[in-house]
Amino acid sequence: MTTAAISPFTHISPEVANKITADMAPPDIVRWAIETFGSKLIMTSSFGAESMCLIHLATRTVADIPIVFINTGFLFPQTLIFMETMRRQYRLNVVEFHTENDPVVWLSVNGESDPRTRRDVDACCHANKNSVFDRAMQSLAPVAWLRGIRADQSTHRSQMQTVEANRRTGALAISPLLRWSSKDIHHYMRQHELPYHPLWNEGYASIGCNPVTCTRPLSAGENVRDGRWSGTDKKECGIHLDQGAGI
Ligand code: SF4
Repeated sequence: MTTAAISPFTHISPEVANKITADMAPPDIVRWAIETFGSKLIMTSSFGAESMCLIHLATRTVADIPIVFINTGFLFPQTLIFMETMRRQYRLNVVEFHTENDPVVWLSVNGESDPRTRRDVDACCHANKNSVFDRAMQSLAPVAWLRGIRADQSTHRSQMQTVEANRRTGALAISPLLRWSSKDIHHYMRQHELPYHPLWNEGYASIGCNPVTCTRPLSAGENVRDGRWSGTDKKECGIHLDQGAGI
């Protein structure tokens, strides 16, 4: 393992980057990103179901890569425990950014009378997730960041490219796992004996915040993202979108 050095080559267009990485497997894409962007590369992680796959891919090359973790104030307690356990076990450089809102006060002021559900998910995601993500990116100012999204998770994600210019942050968003399936991830995690989020065993395939309107376990035959904002058209919290809108 090495500590990332600053690469002189930090300006590259997404078109060129996608050509370079077109035939690369995920481990090679991660290595390419590390070699290309050096200490100007960070990663984001929700410490969700399969998060340890990308974390392992990155940290086996750069042990101290900053791992941005957005704490909305409404995460499952199991997520916080999982993150802390992984941080200690794998000596991860987790950089946590927390919402500036007091969760209880925010719910009250915004007319959310039942903490188990969310009436206005876009308002909540904006105030407690997207604004925190924007603060994190402004604070760390990366040239590029690794994220764990996959094409088979949703129609929107199936149209994404491995490397995208993110106008909102001014950085390149790199998705090394984009073309991997759940089966590929599972194979990698078993091969390296990596732990899943504890709620994985209870049917949670994509794990965000704890209101039941934001995350629920899957039923047989459902897609991995069907448990997120169930019953609505919303499939993204916004941090993977240019403008932070919740589609
Ligand atoms: S996922 Fe739900 S609880 Fe979390 S920030 Fe978005 S609306 Fe709020």
